[in-house]
Amino acid sequence: MLAKNLLVTGASRGIGRACALLAARSGWSVGVNYREDAKAADAVVETIAKDGGRAVALKGDVAVETDAVAMFDAAAKALGPLTAVIANAGIIAPTAKLADMSAERMRHIFEVNTLGAFLTAREAARRMSKSLGGAGGSIVLMSSAAARLGSPNLYIDYAASKGAIDTLTLGLSKELGPEGVRVNAIRPGLIDTEIHASGGEPDRAPVLGATAPLGRPGSAEEIAEAAIWLISDAASYVTGALLDVAGGR
Ligand code: NAD
Repeated sequence: MLAKNLLVTGASRGIGRACALLAARSGWSVGVNYREDAKAADAVVETIAKDGGRAVALKGDVAVETDAVAMFDAAAKALGPLTAVIANAGIIAPTAKLADMSAERMRHIFEVNTLGAFLTAREAARRMSKSLGGAGGSIVLMSSAAARLGSPNLYIDYAASKGAIDTLTLGLSKELGPEGVRVNAIRPGLIDTEIHASGGEPDRAPVLGATAPLGRPGSAEEIAEAAIWLISDAASYVTGALLDVAGGR
């Protein structure tokens, strides 16, 4: 059986935090990546330690190549070789039509959501691929229901940055299957986290979530359940899946 060493990017709050906490309760040692909020990341590590788990906070911007490499090195040094990675870090920008979007805004969205996920997945591939000396493992990429809805009048840039994650998942799962590495994506629907406030719509999840077939927004914990299942042996034949966890939306 593989060691259970996991890195979660953007894990100081929201869905990433919920993934880190649930993973630790499921026996994973966890690298808790954060970009800025060291206090929040330390609090996640402390919560895990208090429950008898093992975790380490790892500073790094996923969109910066040197940070991504250093973060993986530090995680392996602290926990042992990684066998799972959840590429969760992501951002949105205030709602706008494409006609009103600056190049700077679009570049930032693609740098964090797309390039950041690509760099994270690349480092995972380099370290877990059996032909490169790794032991195999599993990658989960945080896409979005926006990838198939397009988010018109809101943030098409964000939706497209997540569409690229779906394509990455499909391609990389085929590349890494023979390497003993499974690659899957989760497409969350409207999940009640702080991300919506950064789009200028703090009430977006409760208001629009009510229009989903299940009649409510989802919670970060409900996304974590899917992510931790995907990295577990229970999902041993699942790869290349784009898993909607969106209340039917
Ligand atoms: P959140 O804003 O609460 O958390 C995102 C985390 O990513 C934060 O901790 C943030 O600091 C971190 N982050 C941002 N840029 C980073 C960078 N460059 N380097 C490292 N960390 C960085 O949002 P959330 O709702 O928990 O979102 C988590 C993921 O789920 C994102 O990829 C998001 O796009 C995706 N998602 C969320 C929803 C939703 O409704 N909340 C829906 C679909 C997809």
